[in-house]
Amino acid sequence: MLFSFEYLKGKLDIMDMLKKVITNLIYVLDCTLNLVYSDGDKCCICDNYCEDTSFLCNSCYSKIRFCTEKYYIKEKIREIECYSMAYYSSVIKEMIVNLKYKSDFKSGKALAEMMQGIIYEKNIKFDYITFVPMTKKYLKIRGYNQSEFLAQYISRHTDVKMLELLKKNKDSKDQIGLDSDERWYNIRGCFEFIGNKNDIKEKNILLIDDVITTGATAFYCAEKLINNNANNVIVLTAAKSKI
Ligand SMILES: [Zn+2]
Repeated sequence: MLFSFEYLKGKLDIMDMLKKVITNLIYVLDCTLNLVYSDGDKCCICDNYCEDTSFLCNSCYSKIRFCTEKYYIKEKIREIECYSMAYYSSVIKEMIVNLKYKSDFKSGKALAEMMQGIIYEKNIKFDYITFVPMTKKYLKIRGYNQSEFLAQYISRHTDVKMLELLKKNKDSKDQIGLDSDERWYNIRGCFEFIGNKNDIKEKNILLIDDVITTGATAFYCAEKLINNNANNVIVLTAAKSKI
């Protein structure tokens, strides 16, 4: 039975496995290249010398406006706990743009390192890490999801497993002319739960994204996870931007 369900399922499992093997190979290659071509002592923004391994020089670091307060996204009866490492300005904005559009993973690592600092500083507790997904179309154009990159880095350095739990089915870009309520509604139908309900039953999930603006994306991703058995979702983003 060439095209039976079992046959197709087997094929999909193999694809999944291959994807994981390739991702791990890329990581090993990245580590090897880092050892051979170490540029850890150069700032990811200005190329100046860094005193430690933070990828940022003192001058660039001093320009960051850190966001120290926990905040909540509220919608109807639900509120989601959120943390952002910094405000979306100057150096942080440049680092996110570099990671997002210029494949600058050094900036990505620097962002993830500082986001990890928030986890320890605020003593944020969670069982799994996941990330805000992007559509297949965008993933194909960009080649990677910057939020997944951040989540993967944090997962490896905190030793907490990352799960791919959400899928984005449509883009919510055409929002011009929509009021705030319509924007929220428009984003609501974009996400689908693709994980295993049993895996996240009564578990606390850390949801990673690069930038939070209206909070609608993070809210609906969190709601999807809670509606599919998660006990609680805490959002952590690299930056917080104004609406
Ligand atoms: Zn610098």
